[in-house]
Amino acid sequence: MSSVQVAVVTGSNKGIGLAIVRALCKQFPGDVYLTSRDPGRGQAAVAQLQQEGLRPLFHQLDIDDLQSIRALRDFLKEKYGGLNVLVNNAGIAFKVHDTTPFAVQAEVTLKTNFFGTRNVCTELLPLMKPYGRVVNVYSMVSSSALRGCSQELQQKFHSDTITEDELVQLMAKFVEDTKRNVHDKEGWPNTAYGVSKIGVTVLSRIQARLLNEQRKGDHILLNACCPGWVRTDMAGPKATKSPDEGAETPVYLALLPSSADAPHGQFVSDKTVKPW
Ligand code: NAP
Repeated sequence: MSSVQVAVVTGSNKGIGLAIVRALCKQFPGDVYLTSRDPGRGQAAVAQLQQEGLRPLFHQLDIDDLQSIRALRDFLKEKYGGLNVLVNNAGIAFKVHDTTPFAVQAEVTLKTNFFGTRNVCTELLPLMKPYGRVVNVYSMVSSSALRGCSQELQQKFHSDTITEDELVQLMAKFVEDTKRNVHDKEGWPNTAYGVSKIGVTVLSRIQARLLNEQRKGDHILLNACCPGWVRTDMAGPKATKSPDEGAETPVYLALLPSSADAPHGQFVSDKTVKPW
């Protein structure tokens, strides 16, 4: 088994994920895995970084596919005996003018952004080594989505005692409510992407709390962060930041030194802790 440190970035064949891998290849003292659901797109991205003189490694990962997540888990366990850095970056968003029915958008978006990310965490967090760093990419959009929720939902999402099961039930309820066209009446905002990122944010709070309760001595730091508005296929060419600039805050959190005991369980944007 290798004693080399290892970092994994989900959804890193393009956009912010690719830029995170680029920065980690330059700054992380270990192996960096570029992952992609499509091996062809992944290998092309690896070749692009190799042309820049960098040496990322590749592993297939489709966060919608539990078998794919478990194959990566088993590989990491066997080759490295665990994981030092995990960046949950993979995500999707329908375009504003997309005419796909809202209920379908809700199901598809939640499937990847919330349930997929959660499945990665369920399988890979137990592998995190002492002083490990976990970064969940959310969006400031989730704050405005939260303000669009009913008082009752806001209270639940702000709760310091909400459990992962309760959160999963709420996210599943959102999808069901859109199918029955009652999401408005049930207090949900009109944004599937926003709700999915509320889910990621609250999940991060829960996971940080569990790490405090169960693995305090391991000094693992887990945070959610917003990369800003970044020029990628998702956000389009008018966004203000380049992908490399968008990668700065996730990389800062992924590389928090072993002497750091904060931030943990926070929402970070432009390297600054923001209120939830
Ligand atoms: P992007 O250019 O569209 O890249 C998204 C990446 O996620 C792609 O590599 C995509 O792979 C991958 N992905 C999607 N579904 C996946 C799945 N099931 N399994 C594995 N990988 C999957 O978007 P981006 O702008 O870089 O976004 C990266 C993250 O930042 C997302 O979580 C997004 O919500 C968040 N974010 C972005 C902005 C922004 O302004 N761009 C702002 C706030 C937050 P394929 O190539 O195979 O589709």
